[in-house]
Amino acid sequence: MRALVKAKPEVGLWMEHVPVPEIGPNDVLIRVKKSAICGTDVHIWNWDQWAQKTIPVPMVVGHEFVGEIAEIGSAVTKYRVGERVSGEGHIVCGKCRNCRAGRGHLCHYTKGVGVNRPGSFGEFVAIPEYNVVPIPDDVPDEVAAIFDPFGNAVHTALSFDLVGEDVLVTGAGPIGIMGAMVAKRSGARKVVITDINPVRLDLARKVGIDHVVDASKEDLKDVMTAIGMTEGFDVGLEMSGAPPAFRSMIDTMNNGGKIAILGIAPDGFGIDWNKVIFKMLTLKGIYGREMFETWYKMIAFVQGGLDLAPIITHRIKIDDFREGFEAMRSGNSGKVVMDWY
Ligand code: NAD
Ligand code: ZN
Repeated sequence: MRALVKAKPEVGLWMEHVPVPEIGPNDVLIRVKKSAICGTDVHIWNWDQWAQKTIPVPMVVGHEFVGEIAEIGSAVTKYRVGERVSGEGHIVCGKCRNCRAGRGHLCHYTKGVGVNRPGSFGEFVAIPEYNVVPIPDDVPDEVAAIFDPFGNAVHTALSFDLVGEDVLVTGAGPIGIMGAMVAKRSGARKVVITDINPVRLDLARKVGIDHVVDASKEDLKDVMTAIGMTEGFDVGLEMSGAPPAFRSMIDTMNNGGKIAILGIAPDGFGIDWNKVIFKMLTLKGIYGREMFETWYKMIAFVQGGLDLAPIITHRIKIDDFREGFEAMRSGNSGKVVMDWY
């Protein structure tokens, strides 16, 4: 099959012919229809320090996809060939304390599709039956292809009760914007999103986020005054991975505020912990999606009318993957979705 492979320990990905993955008795082979590019894939393309430490070479990478079941393992009972599916990219052990308690998202031994094991930037991907998520007919292919990052947004946004709360989202990347949309739909009073990139700020305005703040030009505290907020944000969703953004969040939270942190700061956030203490903040780290409650909620949000299509700014053929990665690397895109057929 054709696949985008991290073939050499250097910058880039290469389209190569590789064997179709073999499936075990409990696995499902999926023919990939659409692949989306994740920020993680950009790290892998760039071959930064994290990628060098983490990604085995050579390996097919990628983990955001939608497709159709092509083959099932001998012990698979839940799914049939031809079913339209996506899949959870965190493969959990099923044996550790958290897994046994039904908290698979907290598994101690999680392996990532396209990170620790072969991924979905290929004509076919193999995952355990357990990880398969059937996609209902009323969910478009391109939307299902970005369920992995949408799940990050949903899991982060739903970490705390949002009804009537004022919510700050730092970072208007695809995940931040989706998080802000989810917060609004989940009953938040005011939703404020910040970024410093004009393209991202425009995208946030386009999807109708209440208050879009250019953190490079505006002071968040002035914005709060202008929109009638007196005390501070009740809930924060950190979706930028940028230390100044997270520090401004801590400065503008109300006492007792709750923050869910998805953004990854490569060199740490460098925050003043005394502020966390005296503001009596609750901080929660987020990794991945809840298995499988987040998937249930994602599908429900989409079926309830949440439209993710505007987040997709590039729809291209897989052969144009270089163009797609260029758009992602520039920071001036929303999601990039690539068609295999
Ligand atoms: P992204 O890089 O597309 O978006 C981050 C945004 O933050 C960008 O638009 C950038 O301009 C903005 N930003 C930079 N400095 C800022 C500042 N000072 N104030 C406000 N905004 C600022 O990333 P994404 O794909 O939307 O993902 C969001 C974050 O979540 C990233 O840090 C990513 O690494 C992380 N992530 C974590 C997980 C997890 O499981 N924990 C999963 C996926 C992504
Ligand atoms: Zn486990």
